[in-house]
Formats: sequence, structure tokens, C-alpha cells
Amino acid sequence: MAQAAHVVMLTSSGAGHVLPVSELAKRLAVRHGFTVTIVTYASLSTPGHSSPLASLPPGVSVAALPEVSISDLPADAHLVTRILTVINRALPQLRDLLRSLLGLPAGITAFMTDMLCPAALAVSKEMGLPGTTTCECRDLPEPVMLPGCVPLHGADLVEPVQNRSDPVYELMVDLGLNYLLAEGFIVNTMDALEHETLVAFQELSDKGVYPPAYAVGPFTRRRCPDSDEVKHSCLRWLDNQPDGSVLYVSFGSGGALSTEQTAELAAGLEASEQRFLWVVHHPNDKDSSAGYLGTATTDDDPLSYLPEGFVERTKGTGLLVPLWAPQVEILNHVAVGGFMSHGGWNSTLESVAAGVPMVAWPLYAEQRMNAVMLSSDRVGLALWERPPLGKDGAIVPREEVAALVGELMEGEKGAMARKKADHLRDEAEIAQDRALAVVAGMVSLHRKSHGD
Ligand code: UDP
Repeated sequence: MAQAAHVVMLTSSGAGHVLPVSELAKRLAVRHGFTVTIVTYASLSTPGHSSPLASLPPGVSVAALPEVSISDLPADAHLVTRILTVINRALPQLRDLLRSLLGLPAGITAFMTDMLCPAALAVSKEMGLPGTTTCECRDLPEPVMLPGCVPLHGADLVEPVQNRSDPVYELMVDLGLNYLLAEGFIVNTMDALEHETLVAFQELSDKGVYPPAYAVGPFTRRRCPDSDEVKHSCLRWLDNQPDGSVLYVSFGSGGALSTEQTAELAAGLEASEQRFLWVVHHPNDKDSSAGYLGTATTDDDPLSYLPEGFVERTKGTGLLVPLWAPQVEILNHVAVGGFMSHGGWNSTLESVAAGVPMVAWPLYAEQRMNAVMLSSDRVGLALWERPPLGKDGAIVPREEVAALVGELMEGEKGAMARKKADHLRDEAEIAQDRALAVVAGMVSLHRKSHGD
């Protein structure tokens, strides 16, 4: 049988600290089958200690750190000085205790301290003890439940928080903390897309946990008025295709597929027998965001990486555009009936504003989270396969590509997504009209409150 998780909890003195720690310990033991060692300070024991620690269930034990002397402190030393001095002076004893616990079969799965003992974290870090989490978030067995959000698998969270030993993790934590410096957030989304999340933000802001958040989107580029002189040739091609018949394929400004995946996508599009307009980028076998900062710039023609004969064979049904196409105009063209997208947020909102259903093919950044949300029952705008398309570098075979494309363009799921897209387009139109008025109103309110 697997060894139960063993959590070590360090608590400073006083019932106010010992009580909640022992309650948490009881719950972890009784409800989750963990074993817990509560570590206390003999030098700081007060009558309050005895009661919560007297009635602990099996699985929870108590270890008191040996007394350390603070007799050198002035008799009238502040209480906090006395407490923190004991905590600091008992660090060697804590180190010995942790070392002996580590030597037992259960080891230490996680180490926690209360708010007065963070000095102990230096010891636990030095010993390589894990903090309150026991695995990387991508390995979490249960979905992460963020307030108001659809449940997210750890592996679908933004990639920089996936690996706590990478320096980018700390930077992401700082980023999150710095958000709290704002007096409010204006968010490029709309109620019809993220109602539950916005309500959760409202509740948290009412409680003073977060600054208030206002949905003021979608901010998407407007379509340029048609002018034949500047009209991109792909739009002229679309003019000659039946309404709603073309799948637009694009992975944003920087998304890159591997060479093998590019070939499978090409073969899948061909096998689907659907019309398509594909913005083709150079493949990259190492980095799915290779084009994002222009790192993959090369003079080669990206079409030269496509499978032999593909360009000729698909001439009637497909159009290939190298590197860049006027996306907003394409999505708003009446011939376009679906969007295979990496799910970048701008692309998503542009698809929403144009009323076009999607196949989500997330590649990097927060695109997996977007895919989870867009394909959830709550939104239903996108088709997305679990396990995710291309997860961990797995190649999506041509058959799967063809099936997904067929489903989006002609299947039942595609029809449902199209219905949702129609609804969201109407909502986006209303929201866009309101958005600017809301921002302008907030700015002028702010000016008034500052007496400008
Ligand atoms: N875009 C475009 N033509 C292209 C590729 C991208 O006009 O061929 C635009 C697209 O309309 C969107 C932006 O570039 O406004 C891409 O932003 P998004 O957030 O979707 O993805 P990112 O490129 O940042 O990953």
C-alpha cells in the first residue's frame, strides 16, 4: 500500500495559532488519510496549548521543540520579541527534528508554518523539503478550481507556472502580486463570454480581496471598408466561394507547427474535402511559438515545406497564403464558415465578433486555458479534443484533422457551435458599443474624484 502523505506543520504559541493548525491537521488526517506532525515550541507553551492538542485523532502527533533560553532578554521585552527570538533560536533544534522525521519511512511530503514562523522556511528550503504543494501543477490529480472559472487541469494552465524550479515561475508569481497594485482592471472580454468569472471577480472585489474588474470588450479591429485596389487576393478568392463553405486556418502571428505536424495538417485538410484558406508559416520542430518574436525569420518560402504535390492537388478547394493575411476581413467574409485557430485571445475575440465557430488548436501561452473555456458547455464556441491536440508534442494524425474539420463544417457539433457563435456575435455588437462609453465614463469619474 502506498505510504500516506505526511505533512509537518509548525505552529507558534497561543491558542489562536495552535487551534486552527490542529483543526487543519485533524481534517487532513480524517478526511484525506494524511499523517500530520504538529511541531510546537516548549519554550512558548501556554495553557491554550493543551486543549486543542489533547484531542487529536489517530494520524496526528505532536512534537515539541526543546526549550531554548531567552533569559538574556530584558524582563520587559516585547511579547513579539520574545516569540520571534525563541523561533529563531530554536532553528537548529527544528533542523534536527526535521532530519529525524525525514529518516522515517513516511518522510515529509509537505512542510507548513504559521504566519510567525517563516524563518523556518530557510531551514526547510535548505533541506529541500517541499512546501504546501507536493507536485508540479501539471501533475495535479484533480482539476484546479479557480473562482468562477471552468475547472482546469493543471497541465492546461499557462505554461510558465508549470515548473516551479524555472526562474520564470517566480516572475509569474511577482506578476500576479503586482496586479494587486491596480485600483481596478478593465478586461478585454464581455459578459456573454465570461459571465461566471466576472461575477466571481465582483464578489472578491466586494470583499476587498481584488480590485474591481470591468468587462469592456471585445476590443477587436474593425473591418477595413472594401476597396478593390487594396483588396488582398485571398479576399477576391473568397468572393468566389459559396457562403459559409471555407475553413480559415491560422495559428496567429507566431504559432509554429513541427515539420511532421505541418504535413499531417496538410494531408488532413486535403482528406476532409472542405474548402480552406490556410496562412502558412515556417515549421519549427523545437518551439511552437517560434514566429512570435520573429526568431524564425528566414527568406525561404514557407509553402516549400508542404508535402510534395499538395499545392497543386488542392488548387481548386484550398488557398495557401504565406505568413500573413488580413484576418479580420477574412473572418467577416460571408464565405468563411469555420476557424481553425491557436486560440490566441485576439483571434478568439475576432472570431466571436464575426460569429465564426472554431476548432481550437492551442500551442503556447494561455491558449490551452482559452481552449478549455471556449469548448466548455458554458461557451460552446469551439470544438476541442481531449487529450488536447498535440499534447506533449504528440502528432495529430491526418485522420483526426479531417474528422475535426468535417465535424466543424458539416457535423452536429459544428452546427451547435455555429448557433453559439451567432449568439455571441450579437452580444459582441452590443458590448462593443457599450465598451468605450464605460471606459470613458470611468476615466472622467476618476478625474472628478481627483478634482481635475
Ligand atoms: N493576425 C493577422 N493576420 C495573420 C495573423 C494574425 O491579422 O496572418 C492578427 C490577428 O487578427 C490578431 C493578431 O494578429 O489580431 C494575433 O493575436 P492573437 O492574440 O490571436 O495571437 P498571437 O499572435 O498573439 O499569438
